[in-house]
Amino acid sequence: MRIVFLGPPGAGKGTQAQRLKDYLGIAHLSTGEMLRDAEDTPLGRKAARYMLTGQLVPDDIVLGIVVQRLSEKDCSQGCLFDGFPRTVPQAEALDRMLAVRGMPLDLVLALNVPEADLNARLTARGRPDDDPKTIAERFRQYCALTQPLIDYYRLRGILRQIDASASPDKVFERIRDTIDATVSSNSP
Ligand code: ADP
Repeated sequence: MRIVFLGPPGAGKGTQAQRLKDYLGIAHLSTGEMLRDAEDTPLGRKAARYMLTGQLVPDDIVLGIVVQRLSEKDCSQGCLFDGFPRTVPQAEALDRMLAVRGMPLDLVLALNVPEADLNARLTARGRPDDDPKTIAERFRQYCALTQPLIDYYRLRGILRQIDASASPDKVFERIRDTIDATVSSNSP
């Protein structure tokens, strides 16, 4: 299975992706995590300049790390994209990468949380890019560049909306129900 997690900063993509990855036994691709892990490389240092101001990292850098990661063995079982794609060009590139491999996306889960809750969650987390100015910029980037992906995937019929304002356990239950329903409607 190939699944994308969409949602604003603080929606809980990372937390839920971790659980879902264990549930389905598929690879977890968090571009934010991969970029943070690369901080000691020239590419990672270039990416950090964008991340620390809340800007999106340029598509060519992000696509480079995703292509590389997709060729690793564990991805053949399926993968969970967390924080990627974040722009329409990234979504188009992902479609091409997956088409070449004959493994299209099955599902896009949009995690919805009221904006006031998002701010509270991020402020409590305390990552270097979680200060108020950077958070505000990340929201702006999300609305301008990532939100259009909701329609992109709705038009393809693979979008599912998840109310993610409850506890992590409750949200995971909703995600699992959505996945189970998709699996059973796809099986003969
Ligand atoms: P969050 O979901 O809280 O925004 P992430 O770890 O997904 O956290 O992303 C942190 C930062 O990493 C983003 O603000 C952005 O600068 C960079 N980043 C992560 N994924 C991408 C991507 N697909 N395209 C561009 N930039 C990205």
